[in-house]
Amino acid sequence: MAQRIIGIMGALPEEINGVVNLLQNKKEHRFGKRIYYTGTINNQDVVVVYSRIGKVAAAATVSTLILKFNITELIFTGVAGGIASDLKIGDIVLGTELVQHDMDATPLFPQFEIPLIGKSHFKTDSEFLKLGENSIQHILENSYLHQVIDTEDLDQFNIHHPKLHLGLIASGDQFFKDSEQKNNLLSNLPDTKCVEMEGAAVAQVCYEFGIPFIVIRTISDEADQHSTIDFMKFTEKISNIYSIEIIKNIIK
Ligand code: SAH
Repeated sequence: MAQRIIGIMGALPEEINGVVNLLQNKKEHRFGKRIYYTGTINNQDVVVVYSRIGKVAAAATVSTLILKFNITELIFTGVAGGIASDLKIGDIVLGTELVQHDMDATPLFPQFEIPLIGKSHFKTDSEFLKLGENSIQHILENSYLHQVIDTEDLDQFNIHHPKLHLGLIASGDQFFKDSEQKNNLLSNLPDTKCVEMEGAAVAQVCYEFGIPFIVIRTISDEADQHSTIDFMKFTEKISNIYSIEIIKNIIK
C-alpha cells in the first residue's frame, strides 16, 4: 500500500501555528511564498501549511500539497461565520458538502455550477466524516474543553455547551459582515450551515485529483454586523486550541 501522507491546512497562521508545534522531526520548505512544514504527528507523516485567505490562495496551496508533497488525504481546519440559526459561537461544523456561493456563470451554466465540471456541490470523504464525528464529539464534552481552554476565555465568548453540526459549507471571496449578505445566501442556498472563504476551493481541487478530504470549521462569528469583533482573539484563544485537539484526536 502507498505511504499515507496527510496534508493539514488552514487559512490563517493563528489557525495552524498550534498544529505546527505538534510536529516531530519538523522541517521547513518554502514554495510560492508559503511555508510548508513536514514532520510526524503520532508517527503519521503530515505536511502542515496555512494558505492565507481566499479561494485562489487555498487552491494554489492544496495543489502544491498534492503535486510537490504527494499528500494522499487532506484535513482543512479553521473558523467560519454561522449561517443556520441554531449555530452558536464555539460550535463546530463538519462539512458533508461544499459549494462556491460566488460562482455564477448564468445563463451559460446553472448558478453555482463549476463550468465544464458539471458539479456545484463537492462531497467530503465518508470515512473521514465518521472519524471526525467521533473525535469532535469527544472534544466538545464540557470536561474536555475545560481542561484545554481557560474558563475565562470560554465565558468571554459564551461557549457553554458547544455542539457539532454536519452539513453544507458555502465558500466565496467575501467576508460576511451583515444580515443582508446572510439572508441573500440563505435564500439561494437554504441548507447552508456556515460560510467561509476557502473550503469549496480546496474541495474542487481535491475532487479533481481524487484526494479524500474533510473540512472542519469552528464558528467564530454569526456572519453579521458583529462578525469582526474580537476575531483575532477568538482565533488565538479558541480556534487554535480546537484545531490542536481535533488534529490530535483524528491522527492517532
Ligand atoms: N479580521 C480578520 C479577517 C479574517 S477573514 C483579519 O483581520 O485577518 C476570515 C477568515 O475566517 C477567512 O479565512 C474565512 O474562511 C473565515 N471566516 C470567518 N468568519 C467569516 C465570515 N463571517 N465570512 C466569511 N469568512 C469567514
